[in-house]
Amino acid sequence: MTPGDTAGSRDAASAEDEARRLDETDPLPTLRGEFLVPPAPGGSHPEAAYFAGNSLGLQPRSVAGLLREELEDWARLAVEGHTRARRPWVDYHELLREPAARLVGALPHEVVAMNSLTVNLHLMMATFYRPAGDRTRIVIEDSAFPSDSYAVASQAVHHGLDPARTVVRLRPRPGEEHLRTEDVLRFLEREGPTVALLMLGGVNYLTGQLMDMPAITQAGRAAGAAVGWDLAHAAGNVPLRLHDWDVDFAAWCSYKYLNGGPGAVAGCFVHERHVRDASLPRLAGWWGTDPSVRFRMEPQIAPPASADAWQLSNPPILALAPVLASLRIFDRVGMDALRARSGRLTGYLASRLAAVRGAETITPADPAARGSQLSLRVTDAGGLVRRLAERHGVVADAREPDVIRLAPVPLYCTFHDCHRAAEALADLAPGAA
Ligand SMILES: *Cc1c(COP(=O)(O)O)cnc(C)c1O
Repeated sequence: MTPGDTAGSRDAASAEDEARRLDETDPLPTLRGEFLVPPAPGGSHPEAAYFAGNSLGLQPRSVAGLLREELEDWARLAVEGHTRARRPWVDYHELLREPAARLVGALPHEVVAMNSLTVNLHLMMATFYRPAGDRTRIVIEDSAFPSDSYAVASQAVHHGLDPARTVVRLRPRPGEEHLRTEDVLRFLEREGPTVALLMLGGVNYLTGQLMDMPAITQAGRAAGAAVGWDLAHAAGNVPLRLHDWDVDFAAWCSYKYLNGGPGAVAGCFVHERHVRDASLPRLAGWWGTDPSVRFRMEPQIAPPASADAWQLSNPPILALAPVLASLRIFDRVGMDALRARSGRLTGYLASRLAAVRGAETITPADPAARGSQLSLRVTDAGGLVRRLAERHGVVADAREPDVIRLAPVPLYCTFHDCHRAAEALADLAPGAA
């Protein structure tokens, strides 16, 4: 950046023309038309420039039709719908299996759509967090999402351990924003024998850092720990190869990049080397028994050799339908093409934001070390987000006190949205003239 080359002094009209040209020439044009884009909150524009898809994804237009069909089948068939609905409810979750497996790079029997994210993390820890002897510690990142912090602390207590001594929170080096892979690996080399479970976010919710999941997984397993990933901000954002990376387990929510709707049914991955292991402790329910014998209603469980063995309850059809609609879109586009478009959009937004004074990007500058999200350090994050929405129709979110997050989600965000965000920030950021 050279002095004077700020967004504020640019010729906004020519920047806007450039953004429109990028939209017209992008190799993967936006699928915005397949989504319901909300109106700009302050009425400044017909449509919001929506950058909060990392918090709640937009509604695919196809959701309402799928939901209506389930409501009709329920009205028309009632209990018969379990077997006779257009998409029989008894094994409805099967419809999500293959698209979910493609999304996270898994074999089909390694994934299951169920529950919500934190519930799945607990179910996974009930199996894979097995403190014994000196190997009792759970390693997370210091900037973990609060739910993850609470979950691991409560697991420690559940095992009669002191969370303060059991949970290790990895911090970046002083003065740095991101965890260095080499530091995680060195920690595992040094402290490996005390680590029972390593459970980090694949993409950090606060900084947007994309972790080196293959290297960290390999090091964690080599150290003798179980390795699980929280993929809340990674699923639908970056390509994943959970099977090949040899991850023990993973869980993700479906309402962020996956556009499955508020509180949508989450996903869960268990590596196939575990699905036949009868010695693993599991919290069980009737949907975790083999469907071929489930309705014999016997007291002994007969788990299938798949991630389905971790299911508890019969699937919530009205909550799964939107996730199905959404996964069909991902299947059609493919994560590799989406990641390429994401790189172009986020790179464009990053270059425009570099010219904004008073908003420092704390997300890694290396495109290989981030997903869609850019996090900016600002003063008065909440007030800034409010003004962005009211005055410019730009929807971002604030992580108080001093971080705002913008995710140009490649399915429905455009270069023009990014232009709007950059102009709005240049107008409102505290360093702006
Ligand atoms: C969004 C998010 C959650 C939310 O958990 P729910 O159980 O879906 O409410 C948990 N962990 C991380 C890392 C998240 O980003």
